[in-house]
Amino acid sequence: MEYRYNRFECQGQRCSFMYEERFGHPETNIPPGTLFEKLPDTWVCPKCGGPKRNFQFWSQYV
Ligand SMILES: [Zn+2]
Repeated sequence: MEYRYNRFECQGQRCSFMYEERFGHPETNIPPGTLFEKLPDTWVCPKCGGPKRNFQFWSQYV
C-alpha cells in the first residue's frame, strides 16, 4: 500500500507554516518525502523558529 504523506501545521502565533512531507523543506536541507517524525529534533519552524512540538497534524493526502 502506498504511503500517504501527511501535513503538519505550526501552531505558533501568527505563523501557520505548513510542513508537507511530500515536499520536505529543501531550504533547510530536508529532502522531499521526509516524514515529520524523521525531522531532526533540532529542526525548527522556518517561519517563526518554533520547535517541532509546536506542529500539529493537519491532514492526509488521499
Ligand atoms: Zn511556525
